[in-house]
Amino acid sequence: MQPSSALPARITMLSGGVGGSRFAQGVRHLIRRSATSLTCIVNTGDDMWLNGLRVCPDLDSMMYGLAGVNDRDRGWGRAGETERVSAELVAYGVGADWFTLGDLDLGTHIARAQLLRSGLGLAQVTRRLSERWDLGATLLPATEHEVETRVRVDEETTLHFEEWWVRHRAALPAREFVHPGAAEAIPAPGVLEAIRDADVILLAPSNPIVSIGAILQIPGIADALREASAPVIGLSPILGDAPVLGMAAQCLRAVGAEVSAAGVARHYGARSYGGLLDGWLVDEQDAEAVAGLEDAGIAAAAVPLLMGTDDLTADMAQAALDLAGRTGR
Ligand code: GDP
Ligand code: CA
Repeated sequence: MQPSSALPARITMLSGGVGGSRFAQGVRHLIRRSATSLTCIVNTGDDMWLNGLRVCPDLDSMMYGLAGVNDRDRGWGRAGETERVSAELVAYGVGADWFTLGDLDLGTHIARAQLLRSGLGLAQVTRRLSERWDLGATLLPATEHEVETRVRVDEETTLHFEEWWVRHRAALPAREFVHPGAAEAIPAPGVLEAIRDADVILLAPSNPIVSIGAILQIPGIADALREASAPVIGLSPILGDAPVLGMAAQCLRAVGAEVSAAGVARHYGARSYGGLLDGWLVDEQDAEAVAGLEDAGIAAAAVPLLMGTDDLTADMAQAALDLAGRTGR
């Protein structure tokens, strides 16, 4: 049973790919049959040019997940996918054999590259691609500038995040994450407005460093969150001492943050002390962290945080809204 506090008119969330997409589906489930709108500001730090095509992994995970055409078992890409084109590319010795793109997925990247080359910005391109599906949410790239997340693995070498993550399975020790070009980037059209006009702002249980953290590298976005009139509520991607899936632990360690629900909250910081968070949800198993977070100026609650079904995920979203109501913003 969901508690029944009133739904806000406008929810804005910050999101990475797979975790963010599951959470967005739960939020959408919660607000179904209501007038509430959902706007998702999505990480673009993982984007890359590959074989002349623009690949946006997190925007694609969001679009496929919300459209219901994602591969739920594999966790990424399209359901019912084939990889005939990628096999041909490998046979020709072009392209990256560690980053296989499915044939249906390639359709998206070809369409995106074509629209970008026609002169549209990534925000408009994302809108055009989204029009085909019934997403029930608006997707906004964090920025239209090409700002890659890169991983420093030694003095001389940085790797594109996807190469470190997919090819090396995050096994090369990360010294730091860098975002070349971030200083010159600006938020995509609509991003600052979505933060300013929101009634509630949610940080999805996405990777705090390379998903949410990369969004926050775009100048103006973190300031907009600090200045927003809406409460900012985050959900922990860490349950106990590990991420539910993926390699967020390697990312947190690289920036010196503790791999725990409370550690991620402290990394974001309390808005009342110059950080970002008004509230933070931890999983039931991390309930002992709640008191310390409240002492640190972050309203906190412990609820089940496993996104097993849309119903369970909608309950998480409702708990985040309930916590928002407690922050007095
Ligand atoms: P990516 O861009 O595809 O890596 O996806 P995100 O950054 O949006 O999400 C990755 C994060 O989602 C990981 O750190 C996981 O711990 C987290 N995650 C995945 N499933 C769950 C879940 O069921 N509950 C919670 N709380 N976090 C989850
Ligand atoms: Ca990602």
